[in-house]
Amino acid sequence: MTLDYQPSQESLSKLTPVLTKRWLSPDAWKIDVYERLDGYTGLRKALKAHPDELIQLVKDSGLRGRGGAGFPTGMKWGFIPQNDGKSHYLVVNADEGEPGTCKDLPLMMADPHALVEGVIIASYAIRANFAAIYIRGEAVHAARRLRAAVQQAYAKGYLGANILGSGFDLDLVVHSGAGAYICGEETALLDSLEGYRGQPRLRPPFPATHGLYASPTVVNNVETIASVPYIVLGGSAWFRSMGTEKSPGPKIYSISGRVNNPGQFECGLGVTLRQLIDLAGGMQPGHKLKFWTPGGSSTPMLTDEHLDTPMDFEGMAGVGTMLGTTAVQVFSDQDDIVYATYRWIAFYHHESCGKCTPCREGNYWMVRILHRILAGQGTHQDLDTLLDACDNLLGRSFCALGDGATSPVTSSIKYFKQDYLDYIEGRKAPMFKGELVGAH
Ligand code: SF4
Repeated sequence: MTLDYQPSQESLSKLTPVLTKRWLSPDAWKIDVYERLDGYTGLRKALKAHPDELIQLVKDSGLRGRGGAGFPTGMKWGFIPQNDGKSHYLVVNADEGEPGTCKDLPLMMADPHALVEGVIIASYAIRANFAAIYIRGEAVHAARRLRAAVQQAYAKGYLGANILGSGFDLDLVVHSGAGAYICGEETALLDSLEGYRGQPRLRPPFPATHGLYASPTVVNNVETIASVPYIVLGGSAWFRSMGTEKSPGPKIYSISGRVNNPGQFECGLGVTLRQLIDLAGGMQPGHKLKFWTPGGSSTPMLTDEHLDTPMDFEGMAGVGTMLGTTAVQVFSDQDDIVYATYRWIAFYHHESCGKCTPCREGNYWMVRILHRILAGQGTHQDLDTLLDACDNLLGRSFCALGDGATSPVTSSIKYFKQDYLDYIEGRKAPMFKGELVGAH
């Protein structure tokens, strides 16, 4: 950030450091430091409550899934059948791979015990005696830190048999994936965890009844689970004092791109992009906002018309997009939207698991058409073909990856068709030479 930049008081008032409050404390990832900073006090309190009380508390807090879908967490926990004689499982989705998203990895690096503590409380609530954290394969550093935190928690009696004398047993493993974006989809993640090739499962049945090893399973995002100890300590009313009525609580927004100070900013749900850019030190000199993604590339992009739209689940739905992972990517008038779209579709093409035809073939063709346009060989018909391909992907793909791949294409053509026409009609110099051959 430029030293003389000062965000407005209004923007600063949106900051709500809850999950990020320990991030700047030296060595907060070590268990002794974490305990000195109130760590594991939420667990001690939770173990004195009945599991059903904890589920009700999380329901009352209004906590919604922080991985993108926004499903009410307490309701998800409540779907787990009780007294069914089956093993229950908690699985944490730490496979953070959505383009632009960088909130779970810093959380696990800076404050891994917050996640471990949340896992223990959530497992106790759903009566699970085994939990797994499935972490993105490339995140070797975060996996190493998490494994160290788990070891420390075992050594202190927070994991294993008869936790803190409560009679509750829990084993927790950290499992590294093998670098496939699709394993962020919860059923593909479960297949991968079981040792199979990670591909989405047909639903129903849902993981709540047929999850890991065909047993009742809750799959929650890192930020969701790390929020739980704070809710136990602060109560549902405190949690609801942040954010909005339908989207309560704090949220970690990761902002990248053409801002002076990219990074993570924790604010109550409902902060606006204008305020986030202000917190991030303003736009880089000489750059004017052109387009942005609210929650990674799978969420339809927006423009400067939407600077003051509340970034919560309802606000984003109201302008035809989604909150997603709150990975805010900021692009300026010096960025090429056709090229950005091409890069995103190349990503989806590369990451398509190949199980269903619309996604496998649709992304294959879309990346080629976009390349052709950027090579100055596009036609007006290509725009119709791109939209037709999206029409055959959206709602017709087996999982959300196929749906998400349509977002960059449809929203860029909706808001910036002229940028495509500049390539097609020869007003802009081609970026590539010749047709795309082989892999992108
Ligand atoms: Fe696989 Fe794509 Fe189909 Fe999802 S939509 S199952 S990623 S091919």
